[in-house]
Amino acid sequence: MSSPVVREIEAKSILNPSKIHDYCVNPYTGCEVGCVYCYAALFMRRYSGHIEPWGEFVDVKVNAPALLAKQIVKAKKGTIWFASVCDPYQPLEERYALTRRSLEVLVGRDFPVEIQTKSARVRRDLDVIRKIPDVEVGFTIATDDETIAGMFEPNASSVGERVEVLREFKAAGVPTFAFAGPLLPGNPERLAALLAGAADRVLIDRMNYVPAVKAFYARHGLLDALTDSFFRTQSARLAKALRGRGIRVETVF
Ligand code: SF4
Repeated sequence: MSSPVVREIEAKSILNPSKIHDYCVNPYTGCEVGCVYCYAALFMRRYSGHIEPWGEFVDVKVNAPALLAKQIVKAKKGTIWFASVCDPYQPLEERYALTRRSLEVLVGRDFPVEIQTKSARVRRDLDVIRKIPDVEVGFTIATDDETIAGMFEPNASSVGERVEVLREFKAAGVPTFAFAGPLLPGNPERLAALLAGAADRVLIDRMNYVPAVKAFYARHGLLDALTDSFFRTQSARLAKALRGRGIRVETVF
């Protein structure tokens, strides 16, 4: 993995409205995980004015925790999502700890928090996360197949590691979820078996057919896994297998 171009910036706002939850907090603009299917990549590169490819630049919002502390005082109660257009535990979080320090701001406040990542680095913050009364920690886990995950999500933790950390959070009493989306090629029954005992609930989503994603599938001979019938069949199999194991399922497409 090559190092991204890193720029330290001062954000004007950090607690922003979101269509999925009430608010989102993105301590970084840009994401080193560099997923092939990243929807954020479609608009964030243009918005941020970067010329580097997605995954090769990150703006670090160094004032994120201080700004959150200011904004939270005036905010109406609502769920806060870490994060909508970056992985809050991408590698730079090790150096900057902006996600950690932002979570610390939320301890003792009455705001539900949703954390979603593909990185085992979230493990470092279990101590802070446990202090937030209404919190849920989730991993994107869209296939059971490590090779496929590595192709689509090059700088994420392995599937095995993600499942292991999810288990640790669940064992520590933190509610957990898995986001099985966008569904990637793989074996749904095996994925359900992996998630059993790790995720309290699972959300299933499909892939969008944007041209860059379609070209990637074509290059790798995977176009069979980019059809309506693939997503219908795979999601039905996964939902059935999960329900059979007593796991709550929501299909979001
Ligand atoms: S982890 Fe999320 S934000 Fe980062 S590249 Fe992947 S899909 Fe995009």
